[in-house]
Amino acid sequence: MNLDTFPCQNPSCPDFNKTGAGNINLYTRYGRKQVRLLICKTCGRTFSELKGTPFWDSRLDWDTIEKIYRSLLKGSGIRATAREFNLSKNTVKRYLRLANKDYQTVLNFLQERGVVSNGDSQLRELLNQFTSRRQASDRASMAAV
Ligand SMILES: [Zn+2]
Repeated sequence: MNLDTFPCQNPSCPDFNKTGAGNINLYTRYGRKQVRLLICKTCGRTFSELKGTPFWDSRLDWDTIEKIYRSLLKGSGIRATAREFNLSKNTVKRYLRLANKDYQTVLNFLQERGVVSNGDSQLRELLNQFTSRRQASDRASMAAV
């Protein structure tokens, strides 16, 4: 996760909510997932990279999350991915939804781990594929009423 993507979250800091200002440094890591605690050099306030992003709040470990996206990007469906890693289909769907909701965070994660190359076309394509499929089945079920 590139530190430039985190803004300072202290409203009274001159660099509040600015990204890429070079003010954010790694302070320490904590917990089972080695979540990063970041520090703003401008105001000295520390905060967790987890703050405000539903994606980082997830219960699975990073390696499993990476495998889920890898499998989906490879073209495996939700059911096949769930079966391969012994997860429920709902869990796999949850990560698809999170990628929609928290797009930039998920993209950064996948790029950092080398799952996708620099552009975001692979992830965008994956999401389009699942959104359009869902819309199609919504239309079908509406027509059936
Ligand atoms: Zn600050």
